[in-house]
Amino acid sequence: MRKEDIITLPNEHLRQKSSRVHVIDTSVQTLVRDMVDAALDWEDSRPHEISAALAAVQIDQLKRVVIVRSDFEKKENRDFTILINPEIVKYEGDIEEDYEGCLSVKDIYGKVPRYTKIRVKALDIDGKPIRLKAEGFLARVIQHEVDHTNGVVFVDHIREKDDAFYELDEKGELQPLDYDERIKTNNLLWD
Ligand SMILES: [Zn+2]
Repeated sequence: MRKEDIITLPNEHLRQKSSRVHVIDTSVQTLVRDMVDAALDWEDSRPHEISAALAAVQIDQLKRVVIVRSDFEKKENRDFTILINPEIVKYEGDIEEDYEGCLSVKDIYGKVPRYTKIRVKALDIDGKPIRLKAEGFLARVIQHEVDHTNGVVFVDHIREKDDAFYELDEKGELQPLDYDERIKTNNLLWD
């Protein structure tokens, strides 16, 4: 799969709930491989960004499968952690705002409030239960991805906020977007 297989808003599937995976068979392994290929192909086309994570719905498969990059700092590490049926079982810490982007939201970034610490349960690719504690950016990424499995896109959290939307300039720096002109009635985001 390639970056062109990643669906973007306003595709309505991005606002639908994904279903749980009951049997982890070769079709799930193929799905994970397709997700990794699409995420890395996207990254290879973007000089300033990393593919931090992807949910299956983003390649148009409404299944509760998420991949999260093993190392957000080093692009040369192309490994992902696989989370099947991920669930946030506890929210801890404070709520902090920070920047987020999404492979399914073209060229728009947002400052999104998220919990700083979470506890997560999921299954790995062998069907074994995983429990993990996540903090900081990893906690943010997992909350973003679990949202995808529930049909929620990051922009939905900040829809009414006129100072929360940004775009990347050519140097890779985030610049604020004019809310009334570019966001408020943007059919790509809200239809
Ligand atoms: Zn996303």
